[in-house]
Amino acid sequence: MPDASARVPEGAPPRMSACPDWCVVRHGMILGEEDLVHQGRMLDIAEGVVAQLVMSYDPETGQSDGPYVLIGGREYTLDAAEELAQTLLAIIESGRSPLAGG
Ligand SMILES: [Zn+2]
Repeated sequence: MPDASARVPEGAPPRMSACPDWCVVRHGMILGEEDLVHQGRMLDIAEGVVAQLVMSYDPETGQSDGPYVLIGGREYTLDAAEELAQTLLAIIESGRSPLAGG
């Protein structure tokens, strides 16, 4: 589903869609496919694991794909990433439970 916040104006699609608020890429500085991806700030969430928002753009169709959350090289939809976060919170919550018979 295209993101309404990154709407492309009518007519010939531009080389790149308008950046979403979270994009930190200075487009036009790099060439190739990399330049067609909006990328958010990289967050170190675990040793060797970085999480980052990404959204690609196809200048031929004017369609954006994403945003996705890139975690350790794998793309998650926002819903899937939220589910992952909830799972992590559930693990943390379990760890906070008092020990039985303590
Ligand atoms: Zn961008």
